[in-house]
Amino acid sequence: MKQGFAVIGAGWAGCAAAMELARAGHAVTVYEAARTLGGRARRVERENTVLDNGQHILLGAYTETLRLIKLAGQDPKELILTLPLQMRYPAGSDGMDFIAPRLPAPLHLAWALLRAQGLQGADKLALMRFSTAMRTMGWQLYNDCTVSELLQRFDQTERLNRLMWHPLCLAALNTPPERASARVFLNVLRDSLGASRRRASDMLIPKTDLSTLLPDAAARYVAQHGGAVRTGAKVAALQILPDGRWQLDGDAHYDGVIVATSSVQAASLLQGVHDARLDKAISQMQAFTPEAISTCYLQYDASLRLDLPFYALVDAPQQRHWGQFVFDRGQLDASQAGLLAVVISASGPAAEQGHAALAHAIAAQLAQVLQRPALAQPVWTQLITEKRATFACTPDLARPGNASGMPGLLLAGDYTANDERTQDYPATIEAAVRSGLAAARMVHTGQAAKQR
Ligand SMILES: Cc1cc2nc3c(=O)[nH]c(=O)nc-3n(C[C@H](O)[C@H](O)[C@H](O)COP(=O)(O)OP(=O)(O)OC[C@H]3O[C@@H](n4cnc5c(N)ncnc54)[C@H](O)[C@@H]3O)c2cc1C
Repeated sequence: MKQGFAVIGAGWAGCAAAMELARAGHAVTVYEAARTLGGRARRVERENTVLDNGQHILLGAYTETLRLIKLAGQDPKELILTLPLQMRYPAGSDGMDFIAPRLPAPLHLAWALLRAQGLQGADKLALMRFSTAMRTMGWQLYNDCTVSELLQRFDQTERLNRLMWHPLCLAALNTPPERASARVFLNVLRDSLGASRRRASDMLIPKTDLSTLLPDAAARYVAQHGGAVRTGAKVAALQILPDGRWQLDGDAHYDGVIVATSSVQAASLLQGVHDARLDKAISQMQAFTPEAISTCYLQYDASLRLDLPFYALVDAPQQRHWGQFVFDRGQLDASQAGLLAVVISASGPAAEQGHAALAHAIAAQLAQVLQRPALAQPVWTQLITEKRATFACTPDLARPGNASGMPGLLLAGDYTANDERTQDYPATIEAAVRSGLAAARMVHTGQAAKQR
């Protein structure tokens, strides 16, 4: 018999959960409060241009995300630009130039390190020692500490910290190294730098908007399998019925519900259930602190083109250089010629500058470090700050699993930690997707148990 399940939220976690339920032959209804699918990785329209709520970068290690993109009928080769692992700063900006060649792992890293420009012998030795030690430790830490403490313990040089570890930690965990969890950072390094397949360390940049990449295609997949995706449909209340089924907003009944919202919205929905079995998950969600991410879009004349699809930028707030990475959107999508996207992770202090002042400072930073004075004068700018982009990924953070504590009620979202491999992964698209898949598998396994 077909079982009916509801998924609340059509971010990447909810889309993954809905696809998995539909694939397994279940009737699924997705409720999404917004009009656009994708949650914190979605399309927005500004200045008559299709943008994203924030520039995203994926990794070759995002295997489940890539699998679902294909399952939904999309061609990743067409929709994603794949680049080898790299950390390349503009020439003359006192940065470094590190790029992995197309050699098998881990040879590709050794070769990249040997050839890297802008690093001294001492920096290269320190990096080599660090990666050998981490490989020997299986990329695991018995006791968690901050990323800064880990780097200090392994004698990483000031230059390496500034040009490699600091930006990598910010980009991956959206938390500054002095507050970020070393254990979670090592989990990311294990699946990228430490992976046995070179392709896991590739950097993937979407050429299309984020809603098109998966969420819209996921909705089509769900519909083709007999399910429904309702947009503009905010769920306000959840209730368990005496027969163990779940009721949404006092109306529709389901055999199981997956709450795939952000932690703040999940805590509020769960509180409304008034059941002590949910208290632990609610208090863990309420203990998270948010971290912001800002993306500044700058439109120039369509003839503008950078030498590379993206550059790392030296992050120096004391000089009002807030930008950490710049992407040339025109190299990804011809309709966006002349559009640059500058990313600032953990952007709380930068966002305090105010939109106009920050956009102005970023344009000036680009003009200076890329040595192109014209970049100081964009045609228009759009600054998008997501104040609750992710949770601060601090040491020993307690995160809820996918089981809520009540039968038929599952949690999915980048903040959950259940899947063995992504256990303690930072808030990323892959963590969201894996949590959705895990929750869907648990809800229908629970159902099978009930039928027996
Ligand atoms: C600016 C920015 C940049 C980022 N950069 C990267 C990156 O480069 N790489 C990377 O891997 N990750 C990145 N991330 C993180 C990544 O986007 C998130 O981890 C991921 O999108 C979270 O997905 P989710 O499904 O768990 O939650 P969400 O995306 O928050 O989805 C929850 C959905 O639930 C809906 N909802 C909430 N309440 C209700 C309700 N009551 N009823 C119905 N619907 C509801 C919401 O509208 C939303 O659509 C970035 C995030 C931001 C904001």
